Amino acid sequence: MPPPTTTRWEGCGCGGVPVTGDLLAGLTRCQTRYGRAVSGPCPTCCPPVTVHCSRVTDCSHPAAAPVRVPLRRPRCACRVCYVSTSKVLLSTTSVYPESTASAFELAGRLGYDGIELMVGIDPLAADVEAVSKLADYHGVQVHSVHAPVLLVTQNVWGSDPWEKLERSGEACRQLGADTVVVHPPFRWQREYGAGFVEGIRRLNADYDDVTFAVENMYPWRTPGGSFQAYVPHWDPTDLDYDHLTLDLSHASTARMQSMQLVHSWGDRLRHVHLTDGRGSFKDEHLLPGEGDQDAWDVLAELGKAGWDGHICLEVSTRRARSRHEREVLLAQMLETCRKVLSKGAPADA
Ligand SMILES: [Zn+2]
Ligand SMILES: [Zn+2]
Repeated sequence: MPPPTTTRWEGCGCGGVPVTGDLLAGLTRCQTRYGRAVSGPCPTCCPPVTVHCSRVTDCSHPAAAPVRVPLRRPRCACRVCYVSTSKVLLSTTSVYPESTASAFELAGRLGYDGIELMVGIDPLAADVEAVSKLADYHGVQVHSVHAPVLLVTQNVWGSDPWEKLERSGEACRQLGADTVVVHPPFRWQREYGAGFVEGIRRLNADYDDVTFAVENMYPWRTPGGSFQAYVPHWDPTDLDYDHLTLDLSHASTARMQSMQLVHSWGDRLRHVHLTDGRGSFKDEHLLPGEGDQDAWDVLAELGKAGWDGHICLEVSTRRARSRHEREVLLAQMLETCRKVLSKGAPADA
């Protein structure tokens, strides 16, 4: 069955409402130029179709390159079949050791809904102007910004931690993103730590168009025992934050269960780093489903609940021996994310 080029879901027996805008770009268009092609037959009514590069037929774009992996099955964009409004984002760290630029290229080619920018992971990722150009070129929007609060990014955007967060908020505004992911302070950042909870509250009040969501961390485990590296605490559950980011690998390293965190946080959950872990002290960032966090069940639970935050794939793909292998892994993860989100959603929502 050829992919439809119509802009309506004609013949769709499920009563789906057409979605307007670029979601309905024809499937025969070039993936490089148009970024993604997400229209297609409704999976409820029609047999599955896999999009191959051989369908790039009407493009004269010079950078059009054959896509070597079968792309995901086009999802039905009708609001009956696909009620989850969560965007599935690719973290720029998920292509490491490839660059931030590669993350945009892959996200665009594979059809991710957007990017989470890890600020400062390479020089380009601290240059908001350059990131903005990359986003335009690949037609992939940045929807969330991870502040430069890692050990490896502690000198990015100055040494004042509050300035780093302010600049992350400004970067969001400039890039059209709406979420900043923040870690709690390190123990040695005493003054910052002492005012952190109130400071985050103040930022959330100052930026009504950006949400600062604090991420769950874990105790560092060393041969000498456990070390509390974060203040006020690595676990944000009992602290007075309104908006939280759940990282499933961090939950595993902390020997917690993400499903329990989802339930105990309720509507404070604003953002998800979808990944997995096996309880190792290493914070492994495995692919969802490979660890002990019931990652796909957690995602289905969010889909069922009609949760509308961003799902950001934040995984290690260092196992990939080539670009092709990395691309296959990331394509499979995106396809499964959408399938699980859509299946978890009640049909009558
Ligand atoms: Zn983080
Ligand atoms: Zn994370």
